Amino acid sequence: MLELRPNCECCDKDLPPAATEARICSYECTFCADCVDNILHNVCPNCGGGFVPRPIRPVGEYRQGDSLAISPAGTKRRHLRFTLDEVAAFSVTLRETPPEQR
Ligand SMILES: [Zn+2]
Ligand SMILES: [Zn+2]
Repeated sequence: MLELRPNCECCDKDLPPAATEARICSYECTFCADCVDNILHNVCPNCGGGFVPRPIRPVGEYRQGDSLAISPAGTKRRHLRFTLDEVAAFSVTLRETPPEQR
């Protein structure tokens, strides 16, 4: 099950489960759209992959056992383990290559 992480790893903005601006990579590294577009340039600083919008988990239990209340969002905040300079240098090496070719 996808871990709905509570914040942007880069700017620490809150990204609650219904946030339409949350972006994730295939490892669930989570950032806001603004950081993905303007700082990361669609290069995950942790794995080098691209990002997609994070799906919204429904609040309502439309199928038995599946809802945000039953499977709540994560609470552990995560933060970048790289400096912004390191992130920028890494992004430059990959941003011109589409994610599907990395
Ligand atoms: Zn951010
Ligand atoms: Zn990643």
